[in-house]
Amino acid sequence: MLIRVLGSAAGGGFPQWNCGCPNCRGVRAGSLKATARTQESVAVSSDGDQWFLLNCSPEIRQQIESFPPLHPRAPRHSPIGAILITNGDLDHCLGLLSLRESHPLVIYATERLRRGFIEGNVLYRTLDRFPGQVTWRTLQLGKEEELADVDGRSSGLLVEAIGVPGKLPIHLETGGRPDPADSVGFRIRERASGRVLAYLSGVGAVNDAVRRALDGADCVFFDGTFWSSEELPGLGLGTKRAEDMAHLPVGGPDGSLARLGGLAARRRIFIHVNNSNPMLRDDSPERAHVQAAGWEVAHDGMEVRI
Ligand SMILES: [Zn+2]
Ligand SMILES: [Zn+2]
Repeated sequence: MLIRVLGSAAGGGFPQWNCGCPNCRGVRAGSLKATARTQESVAVSSDGDQWFLLNCSPEIRQQIESFPPLHPRAPRHSPIGAILITNGDLDHCLGLLSLRESHPLVIYATERLRRGFIEGNVLYRTLDRFPGQVTWRTLQLGKEEELADVDGRSSGLLVEAIGVPGKLPIHLETGGRPDPADSVGFRIRERASGRVLAYLSGVGAVNDAVRRALDGADCVFFDGTFWSSEELPGLGLGTKRAEDMAHLPVGGPDGSLARLGGLAARRRIFIHVNNSNPMLRDDSPERAHVQAAGWEVAHDGMEVRI
Protein backbone atom coordinates (compact mmCIF):
# COMPACT_ATOMS: atom_id res chain seq x y z
CA MET A 1 0.00 0.00 0.00
CA LEU A 2 1.26 3.43 -0.94
CA ILE A 3 0.49 6.37 1.31
CA ARG A 4 1.23 9.95 0.32
CA VAL A 5 0.67 12.86 2.70
CA LEU A 6 -0.79 15.72 0.68
CA GLY A 7 -1.39 17.95 3.69
CA SER A 8 -0.41 17.43 7.31
CA ALA A 9 -1.63 20.50 9.24
CA ALA A 10 -4.79 20.98 11.27
CA GLY A 11 -7.47 23.50 10.30
CA GLY A 12 -5.92 26.82 9.30
CA GLY A 13 -2.70 25.28 8.01
CA PHE A 14 0.82 26.35 8.91
CA PRO A 15 1.20 29.30 8.89
CA GLN A 16 -2.43 30.29 9.42
CA TRP A 17 -3.54 33.48 7.67
CA ASN A 18 -4.52 35.37 10.84
CA CYS A 19 -2.01 33.87 13.24
CA GLY A 20 1.01 35.65 14.66
CA CYS A 21 2.03 32.94 17.14
CA PRO A 22 5.78 32.27 17.45
CA ASN A 23 5.57 29.27 15.07
CA CYS A 24 3.63 31.11 12.36
CA ARG A 25 5.81 34.23 12.61
CA GLY A 26 8.97 32.14 12.56
CA VAL A 27 8.04 30.04 9.53
CA ARG A 28 7.04 33.18 7.59
CA ALA A 29 10.31 34.87 8.46
CA GLY A 30 12.38 31.77 7.75
CA SER A 31 13.89 32.05 11.22
CA LEU A 32 12.54 28.71 12.42
CA LYS A 33 13.66 25.18 11.62
CA ALA A 34 10.19 24.24 10.41
CA THR A 35 8.37 23.63 7.14
CA ALA A 36 5.04 25.14 6.06
CA ARG A 37 2.18 22.67 5.83
CA THR A 38 -1.22 22.58 4.15
CA GLN A 39 -4.35 21.20 5.76
CA GLU A 40 -4.75 17.49 6.26
CA SER A 41 -5.37 15.18 3.33
CA VAL A 42 -3.75 11.86 2.45
CA ALA A 43 -3.80 9.76 -0.73
CA VAL A 44 -3.64 5.95 -0.60
CA SER A 45 -3.32 3.38 -3.35
CA SER A 46 -2.66 -0.30 -3.76
CA ASP A 47 -1.51 -0.29 -7.38
CA GLY A 48 -0.15 3.26 -7.73
CA ASP A 49 -2.71 3.86 -10.49
CA GLN A 50 -6.05 4.37 -8.74
CA TRP A 51 -5.94 6.64 -5.67
CA PHE A 52 -8.24 7.31 -2.73
CA LEU A 53 -8.21 10.54 -0.75
CA LEU A 54 -8.67 10.56 3.00
CA ASN A 55 -10.31 13.94 3.63
CA CYS A 56 -10.60 16.78 1.15
CA SER A 57 -9.03 19.97 2.44
CA PRO A 58 -9.66 23.55 1.25
CA GLU A 59 -6.22 23.31 -0.38
CA ILE A 60 -7.09 20.27 -2.48
CA ARG A 61 -6.33 21.87 -5.87
CA GLN A 62 -2.76 22.72 -4.86
CA GLN A 63 -2.40 19.31 -3.19
CA ILE A 64 -3.46 17.42 -6.34
CA GLU A 65 -1.06 19.51 -8.41
CA SER A 66 1.74 18.71 -5.94
CA PHE A 67 1.61 14.98 -6.71
CA PRO A 68 1.82 13.92 -10.39
CA PRO A 69 0.15 10.49 -9.91
CA LEU A 70 -3.07 12.45 -9.18
CA HIS A 71 -2.94 14.36 -12.47
CA PRO A 72 -5.37 13.61 -15.34
CA ARG A 73 -4.24 11.17 -18.04
CA ALA A 74 -6.83 12.21 -20.66
CA PRO A 75 -8.61 15.47 -21.60
CA ARG A 76 -11.18 14.82 -18.87
CA HIS A 77 -9.95 12.31 -16.31
CA SER A 78 -8.87 11.87 -12.70
CA PRO A 79 -7.03 8.95 -11.09
CA ILE A 80 -8.88 9.76 -7.85
CA GLY A 81 -11.25 6.83 -7.43
CA ALA A 82 -13.08 8.14 -4.38
CA ILE A 83 -12.82 10.42 -1.36
CA LEU A 84 -13.33 9.32 2.24
CA ILE A 85 -14.37 11.78 4.95
CA THR A 86 -13.52 11.42 8.64
CA ASN A 87 -15.75 14.19 10.00
CA GLY A 88 -17.67 17.29 9.02
CA ASP A 89 -15.13 19.92 10.03
CA LEU A 90 -14.61 22.22 7.08
CA ASP A 91 -10.86 21.56 6.91
CA HIS A 92 -11.80 17.95 6.06
CA CYS A 93 -14.59 18.41 3.53
CA LEU A 94 -14.71 21.98 2.19
CA GLY A 95 -12.44 20.90 -0.68
CA LEU A 96 -15.29 18.79 -2.09
CA LEU A 97 -16.92 22.01 -3.27
CA SER A 98 -13.71 22.89 -5.12
CA LEU A 99 -13.98 19.68 -7.17
CA ARG A 100 -17.06 21.06 -8.93
CA GLU A 101 -15.87 20.97 -12.53
CA SER A 102 -18.53 18.52 -13.72
CA HIS A 103 -16.61 15.41 -12.78
CA PRO A 104 -18.30 12.33 -11.26
CA LEU A 105 -17.19 12.01 -7.62
CA VAL A 106 -17.51 9.05 -5.28
CA ILE A 107 -17.63 9.90 -1.59
CA TYR A 108 -17.48 7.38 1.24
CA ALA A 109 -18.95 8.71 4.50
CA THR A 110 -21.32 7.75 7.26
CA GLU A 111 -24.94 8.72 6.73
CA ARG A 112 -24.57 11.32 9.51
CA LEU A 113 -21.68 12.93 7.67
CA ARG A 114 -23.49 12.89 4.33
CA ARG A 115 -26.53 14.62 5.78
CA GLY A 116 -24.41 17.11 7.70
CA PHE A 117 -22.74 18.13 4.44
CA ILE A 118 -25.73 18.34 2.10
CA GLU A 119 -28.75 19.31 4.22
CA GLY A 120 -29.55 22.99 4.13
CA ASN A 121 -26.39 23.61 2.11
CA VAL A 122 -27.28 25.59 -1.03
CA LEU A 123 -23.65 25.46 -2.15
CA TYR A 124 -24.00 21.70 -2.50
CA ARG A 125 -26.05 22.35 -5.66
CA THR A 126 -22.76 22.91 -7.46
CA LEU A 127 -22.12 19.16 -6.98
CA ASP A 128 -25.66 18.26 -8.00
CA ARG A 129 -25.79 19.65 -11.51
CA PHE A 130 -26.31 16.34 -13.34
CA PRO A 131 -27.41 12.86 -12.29
CA GLY A 132 -24.49 10.91 -10.93
CA GLN A 133 -22.23 13.89 -10.28
CA VAL A 134 -21.78 12.57 -6.74
CA THR A 135 -22.18 8.96 -5.73
CA TRP A 136 -22.39 8.65 -1.94
CA ARG A 137 -21.41 5.28 -0.50
CA THR A 138 -22.50 4.83 3.09
CA LEU A 139 -19.99 3.65 5.64
CA GLN A 140 -21.48 1.76 8.56
CA LEU A 141 -19.42 1.64 11.71
CA GLY A 142 -17.58 -1.63 12.08
CA LYS A 143 -18.48 -2.94 8.61
CA GLU A 144 -15.67 -3.42 6.13
CA GLU A 145 -16.35 -2.15 2.59
CA GLU A 146 -14.39 -2.57 -0.61
CA LEU A 147 -13.18 0.71 -2.06
CA ALA A 148 -14.08 1.16 -5.71
CA ASP A 149 -14.28 3.99 -8.22
CA VAL A 150 -17.42 5.26 -9.98
CA ASP A 151 -17.29 2.38 -12.46
CA GLY A 152 -17.04 -0.15 -9.64
CA ARG A 153 -13.44 -0.97 -10.51
CA SER A 154 -11.97 -2.69 -7.48
CA SER A 155 -9.03 -1.08 -5.76
CA GLY A 156 -7.69 -3.99 -3.74
CA LEU A 157 -8.34 -1.90 -0.62
CA LEU A 158 -11.00 -2.42 2.04
CA VAL A 159 -12.08 0.16 4.59
CA GLU A 160 -13.72 -0.05 7.97
CA ALA A 161 -14.96 3.13 9.67
CA ILE A 162 -14.61 3.24 13.45
CA GLY A 163 -16.47 5.78 15.56
CA VAL A 164 -13.95 7.72 17.66
CA PRO A 165 -14.46 10.28 20.44
CA GLY A 166 -15.03 13.56 18.64
CA LYS A 167 -17.48 16.40 18.37
CA LEU A 168 -19.87 17.94 15.87
CA PRO A 169 -18.42 20.53 13.50
CA ILE A 170 -18.94 24.09 14.71
CA HIS A 171 -21.61 24.85 12.08
CA LEU A 172 -23.72 21.89 13.29
CA GLU A 173 -23.19 22.24 17.05
CA THR A 174 -26.66 23.66 17.63
CA GLY A 175 -28.34 21.07 15.43
CA GLY A 176 -28.73 18.08 17.69
CA ARG A 177 -27.06 15.43 19.73
CA PRO A 178 -23.64 14.07 18.84
CA ASP A 179 -23.39 10.51 17.56
CA PRO A 180 -20.46 8.06 17.22
CA ALA A 181 -20.85 8.28 13.42
CA ASP A 182 -20.04 12.03 13.47
CA SER A 183 -16.32 11.43 13.74
CA VAL A 184 -14.57 8.34 12.46
CA GLY A 185 -11.18 6.80 11.92
CA PHE A 186 -10.37 4.31 9.18
CA ARG A 187 -8.75 0.90 9.08
CA ILE A 188 -7.68 0.39 5.49
CA ARG A 189 -6.60 -3.11 4.59
CA GLU A 190 -4.84 -4.16 1.42
CA ARG A 191 -6.37 -7.40 0.26
CA ALA A 192 -3.27 -8.86 -1.41
CA SER A 193 -0.75 -8.21 1.36
CA GLY A 194 -3.04 -8.04 4.41
CA ARG A 195 -1.26 -4.82 5.45
CA VAL A 196 -3.30 -2.35 7.49
CA LEU A 197 -3.22 1.42 7.71
CA ALA A 198 -4.98 2.85 10.79
CA TYR A 199 -5.90 6.47 10.09
CA LEU A 200 -7.22 8.40 13.11
CA SER A 201 -6.58 12.08 12.50
CA GLY A 202 -9.07 13.44 15.03
CA VAL A 203 -9.34 11.68 18.38
CA GLY A 204 -10.62 13.16 21.64
CA ALA A 205 -9.66 10.25 23.89
CA VAL A 206 -8.20 6.75 23.75
CA ASN A 207 -11.04 4.32 24.38
CA ASP A 208 -11.63 0.68 23.46
CA ALA A 209 -12.78 1.55 19.93
CA VAL A 210 -9.59 3.53 19.31
CA ARG A 211 -7.44 0.72 20.67
CA ARG A 212 -9.20 -1.80 18.48
CA ALA A 213 -8.72 0.44 15.43
CA LEU A 214 -4.98 0.60 16.09
CA ASP A 215 -4.54 -3.06 16.98
CA GLY A 216 -2.17 -4.90 14.65
CA ALA A 217 -1.87 -2.01 12.17
CA ASP A 218 1.35 -1.80 10.16
CA CYS A 219 1.17 1.97 9.96
CA VAL A 220 -0.67 4.40 12.25
CA PHE A 221 -1.56 8.01 11.57
CA PHE A 222 -2.84 9.67 14.75
CA ASP A 223 -4.19 13.03 15.89
CA GLY A 224 -1.23 15.36 16.50
CA THR A 225 -3.20 18.60 16.78
CA PHE A 226 -1.94 19.91 20.11
CA TRP A 227 1.06 19.21 22.29
CA SER A 228 -0.69 20.23 25.53
CA SER A 229 -4.18 20.91 26.83
CA GLU A 230 -3.44 24.58 27.52
CA GLU A 231 -1.64 25.27 24.24
CA LEU A 232 -4.06 27.82 22.78
CA PRO A 233 -4.85 29.72 26.01
CA GLY A 234 -1.15 29.66 26.91
CA LEU A 235 -0.22 31.43 23.66
CA GLY A 236 -3.11 33.89 23.88
CA LEU A 237 -4.77 32.23 20.85
CA GLY A 238 -8.12 31.38 22.41
CA THR A 239 -9.85 30.07 25.48
CA LYS A 240 -10.44 26.44 24.52
CA ARG A 241 -8.43 23.58 25.90
CA ALA A 242 -7.41 20.77 23.52
CA GLU A 243 -10.00 18.43 25.05
CA ASP A 244 -12.75 21.04 24.51
CA MET A 245 -12.00 20.71 20.81
CA ALA A 246 -12.00 16.89 20.95
CA HIS A 247 -8.25 16.54 20.45
CA LEU A 248 -6.21 14.45 22.86
CA PRO A 249 -2.88 16.26 23.32
CA VAL A 250 0.34 14.48 22.35
CA GLY A 251 2.43 15.35 25.42
CA GLY A 252 1.95 14.99 29.16
CA PRO A 253 1.28 11.98 31.39
CA ASP A 254 -2.20 11.45 29.88
CA GLY A 255 -1.27 12.42 26.30
CA SER A 256 -1.33 10.13 23.30
CA LEU A 257 2.42 9.44 23.37
CA ALA A 258 2.07 8.04 26.88
CA ARG A 259 -1.25 6.31 26.25
CA LEU A 260 -0.11 4.61 23.03
CA GLY A 261 3.33 3.55 24.27
CA GLY A 262 2.85 -0.12 23.47
CA LEU A 263 1.90 0.17 19.80
CA ALA A 264 3.71 -2.32 17.59
CA ALA A 265 3.12 -0.55 14.25
CA ARG A 266 6.30 -0.14 12.18
CA ARG A 267 5.42 3.46 11.36
CA ARG A 268 3.69 5.72 13.90
CA ILE A 269 3.01 9.20 12.60
CA PHE A 270 1.29 12.27 14.02
CA ILE A 271 -0.81 14.21 11.52
CA HIS A 272 -3.33 17.10 11.63
CA VAL A 273 -0.77 19.19 13.53
CA ASN A 274 -1.92 22.63 14.63
CA ASN A 275 0.35 25.57 13.81
CA SER A 276 0.79 26.28 17.53
CA ASN A 277 2.28 22.85 18.28
CA PRO A 278 5.97 23.03 19.32
CA MET A 279 6.70 19.63 17.74
CA LEU A 280 6.48 21.36 14.33
CA ARG A 281 9.93 22.81 15.04
CA ASP A 282 12.56 20.32 13.86
CA ASP A 283 14.89 21.23 16.73
CA SER A 284 12.40 21.47 19.60
CA PRO A 285 12.57 19.32 22.74
CA GLU A 286 9.03 18.18 21.96
CA ARG A 287 10.11 16.87 18.53
CA ALA A 288 13.05 15.07 20.14
CA HIS A 289 10.65 13.53 22.65
CA VAL A 290 8.36 12.29 19.87
CA GLN A 291 11.25 10.80 17.92
CA ALA A 292 12.76 9.14 20.97
CA ALA A 293 9.44 7.37 21.44
CA GLY A 294 9.61 6.05 17.86
CA TRP A 295 7.00 8.42 16.41
CA GLU A 296 7.26 10.78 13.44
CA VAL A 297 5.60 14.10 12.59
CA ALA A 298 3.93 14.10 9.17
CA HIS A 299 4.95 16.69 6.60
CA ASP A 300 3.50 17.49 3.18
CA GLY A 301 5.02 15.19 0.58
CA MET A 302 5.83 12.41 3.05
CA GLU A 303 5.51 8.94 1.53
CA VAL A 304 5.05 5.67 3.34
CA ARG A 305 4.99 2.22 1.79
CA ILE A 306 3.68 -0.68 3.82
ZN1 LIG B 1 -9.44 19.33 11.38
ZN1 LIG C 1 0.09 30.18 14.58
